[in-house]
Amino acid sequence: MEKINIAVDGFSSCGKSTIAKGLAKELGYTYIDSGAMYRAVALFACRNGWMTDTEINEAGLQKHIPEIEISFETNSEGQQETYLNGENVEKEIRSLEIGNGASRVSTLGFVRRELVRQQQAMGKKKGVVMDGRDIGTVVFPDAEFKIFLTATPEVRAQRRFDELQAKGSPVSYEETLANVRERDERDTTRTESPLRKAADAIELDNSHISINEQLQWAIDMFNKITKQK
Ligand code: C5P
Repeated sequence: MEKINIAVDGFSSCGKSTIAKGLAKELGYTYIDSGAMYRAVALFACRNGWMTDTEINEAGLQKHIPEIEISFETNSEGQQETYLNGENVEKEIRSLEIGNGASRVSTLGFVRRELVRQQQAMGKKKGVVMDGRDIGTVVFPDAEFKIFLTATPEVRAQRRFDELQAKGSPVSYEETLANVRERDERDTTRTESPLRKAADAIELDNSHISINEQLQWAIDMFNKITKQK
């Protein structure tokens, strides 16, 4: 069967990667975490002193953005890991701080243009499931299957908090909820590619359904869409 591209968009921490990874595994497609790419840019900016808690040196970052090469490799446990210029940065980019930094650098047009270019190149041969905020609207506007995931901020904060706790991070639930709200606000109000549901995306609120139910829903949808083709 001819392969298609699948776009999974939605708010922070609503389980986009879970459904996208599950679908990719089920279909034998390649999963691409576009958020990890924004996180890698944030790490690059922090390490080089172009981003502090309050400011971004846009000129400095823009000048050096062509030096950033982001790639993904699968580790021995079958988990995908993010590489920044050949260095495995998977652990470092998952902190709350870098997540926040990613949300900040993602408002910059020159950062988005460079990453969108790399993402479109990755999807050229089709067979990609990519999750993010602008995949169905900007990166793959012609994707045959687009999912827009939602869940309440409280449910999302609880999921993120559980994840961070499991990693031993000392943040509180209240801080996590505040962070979720802050990122929602920034993602939906930025002028460059704000988070929007594409007109032809199918919405799923997964606040009260299990991971298995959500995956089954996506597989059924995929089968329906590819049958119609
Ligand atoms: O999905 P994740 O939380 O890892 O993404 C980190 C940040 O990168 C998000 O808060 C969002 O602001 C930004 N992002 C984006 N466009 C994407 C993916 C992520 O703006 N396609």
